[in-house]
Amino acid sequence: NWLNVSRFDVVGIVRELSEVLGTTFHRSIRVHSDHQFVYMKGDKDKVRQLLLILIDNALKYSKEPIDVRIRNQKSGIKLEVIDYGIGVPENEIPNMFQRFYRVDEARHRSTGGSGLGLSIAKKIIDVHEGSVEVYSKPGKGTTVSIQLPRKV
Ligand code: ATP
Repeated sequence: NWLNVSRFDVVGIVRELSEVLGTTFHRSIRVHSDHQFVYMKGDKDKVRQLLLILIDNALKYSKEPIDVRIRNQKSGIKLEVIDYGIGVPENEIPNMFQRFYRVDEARHRSTGGSGLGLSIAKKIIDVHEGSVEVYSKPGKGTTVSIQLPRKV
């Protein structure tokens, strides 16, 4: 499990992804950051893939604009992907990160997808020694909150 480690700006990645995905899917992705640049050391391609998975899910499971928040905290970098969509029942949240797991049958057909995204996201968070929390209310929306150490 080798990593291609470099120093990079997380805000730049979020802005790039938001521009491409927002344009492609005709959706509004609002980026909020308390700093113009937030640097970390890690595998840039993997962190980009992680953010792509979370933003893609937020777009797939909602219809409204979504928000991405970047905070440079003492404890590390906090990244939140926030949507106002269908949400996840509380008892399903622990299962979301398992391979091939999808919350209910109906969703498979309407949105496609394999149920692999979040299991890959979790691996990327783990190799960076980060953590993830999910807050969600059915019918209200979902916040996926990630904490990554800066290591710089
Ligand atoms: P793919 O592998 O193509 O991303 P997927 O979206 O089904 O497909 P995961 O990203 O692993 O797979 O997500 C697992 C399940 O968790 C989803 O099927 C969905 O039911 C639920 N889920 C994930 N993100 C959200 C979200 N933002 N809002 C509501 N449900 C979500």
